[in-house]
Amino acid sequence: MAEDQPVESPEEFRTRVAAWYAANATPRQETDPWAVNLQTDPAEAAKHFETSRQWQAKLADAGLMGLAWPAEYGGGGGPGWMTRIEREISRDYEEYTGFAGATTAMLGPALLRHASEEQKQTFLPALLSARLTFCQLFSEPGAGSDLASLGTRAVRDGDEFVLNGQKVWNSAAQFCDWAFVLVRTDPDAPKHRGITFLLLDMKSPGVEVRPLVQINRATHFNEVFLTDVRVPVANVIGEINEGWSVARTVLANEAAFIGGGPKAPASDNLRSLARESGADKHPVLRQSLADLITRERVVGWMGEQIQAAIRRGEMPPMDPGLIKLMTADIRARSGTLAMELRGAAGLAGDEPETFWAQSELVGRFAISIGGGTNEVLRNNLGERALGLPREPGFSKDQPWKDIPR
Ligand SMILES: Cc1cc2nc3c(=O)[nH]c(=O)nc-3n(C[C@H](O)[C@H](O)[C@H](O)COP(=O)(O)OP(=O)(O)OC[C@H]3O[C@@H](n4cnc5c(N)ncnc54)[C@H](O)[C@@H]3O)c2cc1C
Repeated sequence: MAEDQPVESPEEFRTRVAAWYAANATPRQETDPWAVNLQTDPAEAAKHFETSRQWQAKLADAGLMGLAWPAEYGGGGGPGWMTRIEREISRDYEEYTGFAGATTAMLGPALLRHASEEQKQTFLPALLSARLTFCQLFSEPGAGSDLASLGTRAVRDGDEFVLNGQKVWNSAAQFCDWAFVLVRTDPDAPKHRGITFLLLDMKSPGVEVRPLVQINRATHFNEVFLTDVRVPVANVIGEINEGWSVARTVLANEAAFIGGGPKAPASDNLRSLARESGADKHPVLRQSLADLITRERVVGWMGEQIQAAIRRGEMPPMDPGLIKLMTADIRARSGTLAMELRGAAGLAGDEPETFWAQSELVGRFAISIGGGTNEVLRNNLGERALGLPREPGFSKDQPWKDIPR
């Protein structure tokens, strides 16, 4: 909190923020609980992106973004509980910060930790206010789970790097102003050691974004082709060839953010479905519903503990990957349960409830793959948290250029 502002108690803060939301946002009860966040028309998708960006800008204007971030970079400089209270209140309202908010949660802590003072001054306020939006250009056709094998090359030419390569699965890249990108700057070094983390202006000549049309006709992802793209060396975050540690900060925060789960728990709708179908009296379905609600609560509390530690700049009390894994498991269970509760209508009906249940069923893959697959997270947890032997990695110490591809 800025020095000239009086220090508020948690109760005063809650009252102030609740009043702001009541005056500026739409209560969730007034909106359709079965609405599915899916835009199949590119113009609609662009509008949706812009609406969330504007909502974040409005929150930032009201001093409600980055409540615990340092004040010198546009944050509130307040204690961590402010973020938690704001998040609790915002859950009851319809508006959300969408992709811009997700990137702020992923990239912000990485910039705070690894960027130069000048970069922090330039990019952090723009990130918080969503004046600039950033997409993530990490994955490549040959580098997903094994991200460190990425091959997009960046060759230094004076004060610039020249980038050539292809990225894929880049969410919202068609809308974002900037990107954070991982590139190979030293092919002679082992794969984790020759990577650099750069900020890239998506309007740079040579950047081509091609949306990928999914089976549900939405275009959440893109392929991004980089051909002789020039990026100033000044845009390197951290050290040249040391980008892997910056990427790890992003990935840890991504897992923690995804693990934070959706604003509205799926169990709200599942309860309605159970009541409508009489399944709330069915002993087995009732049990499944109670099990799901319990898991939602537990993972929510665990997520709060992790977020609080991140805000305090401490090591999280548990691996954020665990939360993401549990959230993916809950999402899979809720999709299955939604279809069970909907019964035959879940397959053939055209009611909003059916569409919601179907989208819950297939939506499981976004979370069980995005931000690291379940299988890879289990490997990581086995090694990091349980101390199991490391996966055999024949290429770990080999120069990247000698690894067969
Ligand atoms: C919704 C969503 C959003 C995404 N957004 C972005 C984005 O904005 N930017 C970006 O750069 N990327 C993004 N991605 C890509 C995502 O990070 C990758 O899909 C993910 O890391 C997996 O990589 P892959 O698709 O290449 O699969 P692969 O790595 O090829 O994996 C294929 C299968 O093999 C399994 N597997 C691989 N290695 C192992 C192993 N060592 N042990 C056991 N099993 C293994 C995997 O679990 C998986 O089942 C997104 C993905 C999704 C689904």
